[in-house]
Amino acid sequence: MRVAVIGGGAAGLMAAATASENNEVVLFEKNEKLGKKIYITGKGRCNVTNACAADEFLKNVATNPKFLTSAMYSFSSFDLMEFIETNGTPLKTERGNRVFPVSDKASDVTKCFEKVLLQSDVRIRLNTEVKEIVAESGEIRGLKPADETYDFDKIIICTGGLSYPSTGSTGDGYRFAKKLGHTIIRPVASLTGLNLKGDEYKSLQGLTLKNVGVKILDGQKVVHSDFGEMLFTHFGVSGPVILTGSARINRLNTDGMKLSVDLKPAINEELLDARILRDFGENKNKDFSNALYGLLPRAAVGLIVERSGIRADKKVNEITAAERKKLLYTRKNLDFTIDSLRPIEEGVVTAGGVNVKEINPKTMESKLIKGLFFAGEVIDVDAFTGGFNLQIAFSTGRAAGKD
Ligand code: FAD
Repeated sequence: MRVAVIGGGAAGLMAAATASENNEVVLFEKNEKLGKKIYITGKGRCNVTNACAADEFLKNVATNPKFLTSAMYSFSSFDLMEFIETNGTPLKTERGNRVFPVSDKASDVTKCFEKVLLQSDVRIRLNTEVKEIVAESGEIRGLKPADETYDFDKIIICTGGLSYPSTGSTGDGYRFAKKLGHTIIRPVASLTGLNLKGDEYKSLQGLTLKNVGVKILDGQKVVHSDFGEMLFTHFGVSGPVILTGSARINRLNTDGMKLSVDLKPAINEELLDARILRDFGENKNKDFSNALYGLLPRAAVGLIVERSGIRADKKVNEITAAERKKLLYTRKNLDFTIDSLRPIEEGVVTAGGVNVKEINPKTMESKLIKGLFFAGEVIDVDAFTGGFNLQIAFSTGRAAGKD
C-alpha cells in the first residue's frame, strides 16, 4: 500500500514509523524540520508520557476518554517507553509518574523517531504543505501539495490543532476533514491561563502560590476544585491548577465566573484563628499590616489588608474578634472575577476537532471516507498536563499506522 502521513508531529512520527513496517510511506511536513512542537514540550525537556496504568491514564483525559480506550490498551505508556528506549533514548520517571528523556532534551525524542524513519525508508518531504485531499466515491485517491495529485491508498491526517501556530499547527486538518464531510467540534483553548476582571490581581503579578486550594464557581455551583500550585501574571492567573481548571470550563460561558483561592486549605478555621492569635500576641504593638508578614506571602499583604476592611495602621491589640474573623475569611476566600480564557493560540492543547463519532476507535479510520485516518490533536480528544497529550498522539498514531 502507498501511505501518506500529513504532519511530522508526535502523532505523524509514530503513524509513519508504524505504517512503514509493511508499506511504502511518505511523510509530508510543512515546516523545515520534524517535531517542531515536541522541541518546546515540557519546557524543552519533553514530558513524553505518564507511567501509569491505562485505566488511571484515561481518568486524566478531559474529552472523550472512552473513544481512546482501545488505542490506549493497544499501545500504552509502557509500550511507548519501551519503543523510545529500544530506539536509543533512555527515559526517567519523575514526580507524578511524568516521564522525560534522561538527557532532559526534548530534541532527543524527535531524534529517536528520525532514526526509526530513516531505518524504515520513510520518505520525508519537509517544507511541503499539503493543500488538499482528493477522494472519489467515498474513497481516498490522493493528495495535493501543489497542482498535481499524488496517488495514495491511505492518508493519515496528523496536523494537530490550533495551539502555538508558529509550530505549524494551524488547523489544516479541520479544513480537510470538513471538506470531506466530517463534523468539527468547535475548537477551544485548553490548558491555558485565565484573564481576570478588574485591577486588583495586578498587585500580585509574579506571585507563585504553592499548596493552595482553588475553586471555580459558576454562580453558586462549583465547576472545578483543585489543590496545588498557581501563579499571578500580567493578565490574571496561570500555573498547574489553573491550566487543569481551564480544561473543565472551556465549553462554558466563563464571563463572570468566580475564582476562589484558599491560601491555607490544609488548616481549618479554628486552627487558623489560633495561629493568627498567636502571631498577633507576638506583635501586639505593631500596625496591623506589619503584623501580617509572618502569616502571608509579602506580595499578598496589601490586598488582604484592603479586603479585610481593617485599617492598615490599626494596632494589633485593638483588633476585635469580628475583625479577626473577617481576616480569616479573606485568607480562605481570596476571590476574583474571571473574564475569559486566554486565546486558543496560547492553549497548551486545543480541545475540539474531528468528531469521534465519525472515527473507528480501533483503527482511527474515518467512518465516512475509506482509506482516510486521523491521529493526535486533530481529533476531538484532550487531556490534562502530565504527559497525557503526547501519549494520546503516540497511541492514536500507532493505531492509525497499523494495517
Ligand atoms: P502537532 O504536534 O501540532 O503536529 C502537527 C504537525 O503537522 C506540525 O508539525 C505541522 O507543521 C504539520 N502540519 C500541519 N498542517 C500541515 C499541512 N497542511 N501539510 C503538512 N504538514 C502540516 N504534551 C505532553 O504530553 N507533555 C508535555 O510536556 C507537553 N508540553 C507542551 C508544551 C507546550 C508549550 C505545548 C504547546 C504543548 C505541550 N504538550 C505537551 C501538548 C503536545 O505537545 C501536543 O498535544 C502534541 O504535540 C500534539 O501532537 P500532534 O502530532 O497531534 O500535533
